[in-house]
Amino acid sequence: MIKIFNRFKQPKKTKNNPFDALGLSDDILRALTEKGYQTPTAIQEKAIPEILSGHDVLAAAQTGTGKTAGFTLPMLQKLSLSEVGDKQRDIRALILTPTRELAAQILESIVTYGEHVDLSSMAVFGGVNINPQKQRLRRGIDILVATPGRLLDLVQQRSLDLKTIEFLVLDEADRMLDMGFIHDIKKIVSLLPKKRQTLLFSATFSPEIRSLAQRFLVSPKEISVTPKNAAANTVHQTVYSIERKQKSAALLHLITTKNPYQVLVFHRTKHGANKLTKFLVKHGINASAIHGNKTQSARMKALSEFKSGNLQVLVATDIASRGLDISELPQVVNFELPDVPEDYVHRIGRTGRAGAQGEAISLVSSEESKQLRDIERLIKKKFRKESLTGFDFLPQENKERKPFRSYRKRPSNNRSNRQGNKRQSPSTHRQSRAN
Ligand code: AMP
Repeated sequence: MIKIFNRFKQPKKTKNNPFDALGLSDDILRALTEKGYQTPTAIQEKAIPEILSGHDVLAAAQTGTGKTAGFTLPMLQKLSLSEVGDKQRDIRALILTPTRELAAQILESIVTYGEHVDLSSMAVFGGVNINPQKQRLRRGIDILVATPGRLLDLVQQRSLDLKTIEFLVLDEADRMLDMGFIHDIKKIVSLLPKKRQTLLFSATFSPEIRSLAQRFLVSPKEISVTPKNAAANTVHQTVYSIERKQKSAALLHLITTKNPYQVLVFHRTKHGANKLTKFLVKHGINASAIHGNKTQSARMKALSEFKSGNLQVLVATDIASRGLDISELPQVVNFELPDVPEDYVHRIGRTGRAGAQGEAISLVSSEESKQLRDIERLIKKKFRKESLTGFDFLPQENKERKPFRSYRKRPSNNRSNRQGNKRQSPSTHRQSRAN
């Protein structure tokens, strides 16, 4: 099939749709109506007209602000209305994103918003067989969403030519830098035509991001929808003072007593995430872990079960969870505070999205005072550490397997401890778990 030239097409307008004021066409508006969106978010209001009028854009917007639609909607519209040659295999838009999950998520948005326009799209990322990706690319694609490493593999294997790119989107650019993709990104951009429209989205405008923008963008329009590093004000944040070895029991208590519909739990390490998940599963909680050591299919399975509501607890490391769009997530738990204070903002951004109330709980041990202070300084908010009561303090995370032995091992000269142990007898233990 040869694509027709359609440069004279004008967007058709629908009346009384707040998105209409942004200049979006009927085909796009229809998809938004079907999706149930009624009003544009702040980033969409600011970014869409700039992108439609052809400007490069440098946008500071954290995930949860509706930024994906902010760049996808105008991109789809421009691609669908602009001149197309007969080289149907040419890739016209490239979206670079740090993780596989984000790539899959962005593709999902493109498919949803692009329901009524005739554009093809696909996502390529590592961790899965490259051959089906090569085969699909051979048939031609308009919009490609990619993680940098796999994209370069495909370029090196001559499955891709980037010379026809009209649109480049660098999504979550700060995280791509954090993850060490800078060289890959520079290499990729060097393969693109100079004449293109470039959009850079980042949670913050760090000096590194500014220098990247200076290098890749031409007279960009600067857009910011969140004050630097402000934590979403729709999130209720609580800090519990819990020692490290008691955190698993505390989390179990929170889950069993509050019984939230779903919880995303952040763990700093892959090993710790696995261990915690095992602990929760052992106590009857429907939990799964997602991190870089899991196979791609295991990560996708856990994520889709969580998204569909079949999994109550997802234990994730920062990189795996960054940017995940899980709608109506009521609760986020920081099992440990992140070392990088900005990650706290990203983590709690998973909840309280699109105006919904969310809750972020942090379990903070005495060893984490520095991280807590750094976060308080960043978000300009002082936390009152609360104590969590009414649960069985286990002497050690794994001692629930042999409760009698562990209790006997405790120092005998500690009277209050003995009393405590008496109160928290194994039967109370079992009872509280059963609740
Ligand atoms: P994002 O920041 O792109 O990850 O989007 C966060 C969430 O907001 C996603 O679930 C979107 O589907 C949703 N969303 C984006 N734009 C709108 C809108 N205008 N109205 C309602 N929800 C939206």
